Amino acid sequence: MGETNGHKAADADGRMGRRALLIGGALAAAGTAALARDELSRLWWRMPGVEKPRKEGEVDFVSARWVAASSANWRRADRPDDYGIDMVIIHVTQGSFDSAVKVFQDPGHGAAAHYIVRKDGRVTQMIRELDVAFHAGNREYNERSIGIEHEGFVERASSFTDEMYESSARLTAGICERYGIPVDREHIIGHVEVPGTDHTDPGRFWDWDRYMGLVREARGATTPA
Ligand SMILES: [Zn+2]
Repeated sequence: MGETNGHKAADADGRMGRRALLIGGALAAAGTAALARDELSRLWWRMPGVEKPRKEGEVDFVSARWVAASSANWRRADRPDDYGIDMVIIHVTQGSFDSAVKVFQDPGHGAAAHYIVRKDGRVTQMIRELDVAFHAGNREYNERSIGIEHEGFVERASSFTDEMYESSARLTAGICERYGIPVDREHIIGHVEVPGTDHTDPGRFWDWDRYMGLVREARGATTPA
């Protein structure tokens, strides 16, 4: 997985800017120190470096069921404040749902994704979206993305069911909505498209046209008119 500590400071400096600037602007516009203090107490949790409150078992996608991954397979973060999220990465487990849950709970595995979508469409969340999951095999891509696993095998067309496509598309549409991510193939990619990877998932049987259509449809349904 090659997590290097060396460029962490540079990353933080480079990416922290956007939210801090927005808040700074709002404070400046507010004018008086009293107003600024009031704003600041309301917005403290948006500030980079301040950890958001978390509740055990809380999920980011309403219909997801929570099963915690081993904390060795992800890194605590405060996204999107410390790292912006602009990408969804699609994976295939190369095994059953149960075996994927098992390896993501294994501290020796060194990898896990935020979500697993089962054949029957059931969504399980194992890592919070604010945290960095080790799923892409590329530090920068891990920091900027949400990883979604799909139960099945890349070489088995029957792995990818209607229920799976539909609920995964709703999940991805929700992520795009939450972080303002464009619904296109630049921002919704397969693991195979991550620079430097030797993984092939989701593979040739994954129907991208169908999936993107479903995501667009679901995204449209969640966009206020
Ligand atoms: Zn993968």
